Amino acid sequence: MKAISVSQLRKYEACPRQYEQHYILQKPEETSFHSVFGTLVHAALEAYHAHPERHLLDCYREEFKKPEYRVLDAGLYEKGQVMLQEYLLDTQGVTPPNILNLEERVELTLPNGVPVIGVIDRIDKIDDETIAVVDYKTGASSFPTSYELETDEQLSMYDVMARQLHPWAKTVLLRLHYFQGPKLTTQRKPHQREAFLDYVATLYQEMITSTIFPPRLNSYCGYCTYRKDCPAYQLTLQESVSESVQGLATVEEKIVRPLAFQLPDDLPKLAGLLEQVQYKRKILERVEKDCKAVMKDYMENTQQQAVETEDRVITLSQREYTYLNPHVAHDVLGASVFFGLATVPKEKVEEYLQEVRLAGRAEEAARMELALQQSTTSSFTQASLKVSKIKRVAKITKAKGKKALDTGEKV
Ligand code: SF4
Repeated sequence: MKAISVSQLRKYEACPRQYEQHYILQKPEETSFHSVFGTLVHAALEAYHAHPERHLLDCYREEFKKPEYRVLDAGLYEKGQVMLQEYLLDTQGVTPPNILNLEERVELTLPNGVPVIGVIDRIDKIDDETIAVVDYKTGASSFPTSYELETDEQLSMYDVMARQLHPWAKTVLLRLHYFQGPKLTTQRKPHQREAFLDYVATLYQEMITSTIFPPRLNSYCGYCTYRKDCPAYQLTLQESVSESVQGLATVEEKIVRPLAFQLPDDLPKLAGLLEQVQYKRKILERVEKDCKAVMKDYMENTQQQAVETEDRVITLSQREYTYLNPHVAHDVLGASVFFGLATVPKEKVEEYLQEVRLAGRAEEAARMELALQQSTTSSFTQASLKVSKIKRVAKITKAKGKKALDTGEKV
């Protein structure tokens, strides 16, 4: 088998059937705007690093003209520009030998014998004993929790790859750099590295020996290209839809009664139920999205704002946004009212402050920073609850080439 990537491992673990459809049967996947946009930004970075004499934004403009990016609109184009400007500010003054690798495709064999492949965005030399792997993230609706950061397979893979590329480095920092988001840093302890290598070896062994690839429902089923032919998805869909259209009494029967749990003994049951409900919710959300898209297309094509069925009316509404010129609004309303109404994105202010600092206006930047700190208030959104599977390691007894289950160990 050829070298495997973290995407392959993740796909196989999330759903063997989806992995089979994509990697073995080679059925193409639908591409999302987000992934096309991410590819565009990385392609621009790759072109720029291949020809550093050119300006990054010129490379970006040129890439954007390619037919595969026609699905992206002007809003995303501008967003990409802002991200790349941030990238330039972030890398300004950091030049080789401090940057050891940039947008590099790496293929190697791990110490456990598994051939792997991946692209590393950037590796910096921090000092004679330390390197930092930076992974640029172009889009995210949420950011990882500290648990997710510690167990992220992609970061663990970067850790082992970077150690093989630069064996002199005693410490490997792992950095997630979200454009327009937080910059997060973590590192792997020896026991975490060992557990990750066991985890990769186990999955790899399974992947190369499996002959059956069963479907495994998960929270991304609604976005899965192969859902229309997937028996597990279709069955869940039928069950969920028929359950949802039944009367309230039935719903109460089904939902309220099982919620009479005894805690803490019933926590595993409760977590399992919550996970199932979440999967089903995602599937129903997908149905909702598809229904709306078909209805909207029909109404737009027939130029109707409202359609009546026997007992329902479907209306198409459009929101209109009016933007005020902030300078004019400020003059008309006065500063105190204007700032009471305005919401200023924190990252935009930080970008501006960075520009002021880089322009050598340090005193001005410090004054602005102080004023901003004094006028800042923070608020927290409601804590969200998420159920995720703990990856249990099944170690491979290499001599026999078989798996010896080592249950209970967490990765
Ligand atoms: S719909 Fe879900 S269960 Fe079916 S193949 Fe896709 S990911 Fe797997």
